[in-house]
Amino acid sequence: MPDKLKLLDPEFVVYAKTMLDELKTQDFKYHVEWGFRTKIEQARLFSMGRIQEAAAGFTRNRPGESFHNYGMAIDVHPVVGGRTRKGHPRLESELAAIGKKAGLVWGGDFTPPEPQHFQMPGVTLKQLQEKAKKK
Ligand SMILES: [Zn+2]
Repeated sequence: MPDKLKLLDPEFVVYAKTMLDELKTQDFKYHVEWGFRTKIEQARLFSMGRIQEAAAGFTRNRPGESFHNYGMAIDVHPVVGGRTRKGHPRLESELAAIGKKAGLVWGGDFTPPEPQHFQMPGVTLKQLQEKAKKK
């Protein structure tokens, strides 16, 4: 398993693997930009996002406010000719279809949309935060 997937929640890994296996089956080239994200990484991305709001890969979520902080999300980009492609609607919708088929919630349906983002279904951020507090 790629490094980025190692620290994911075991429950979520099942979904993520279903999606990534299907991408492999379809020979859809992809790159996982983010899996688990520490709160420190989240803070860094958040402050970068403040400076350069529009740039892909940055975040609007503060530490603890992202599914990534709980190992419950992955960011996946299409790869064309060996290069990561961002902002390619057709490839993103193909990726979305495969992710949704695996049962994942697609960030492209969010406002504002995050087409690279796939997260755990059936759980809210608040529930993840409560669960983390109990640990
Ligand atoms: Zn994400």
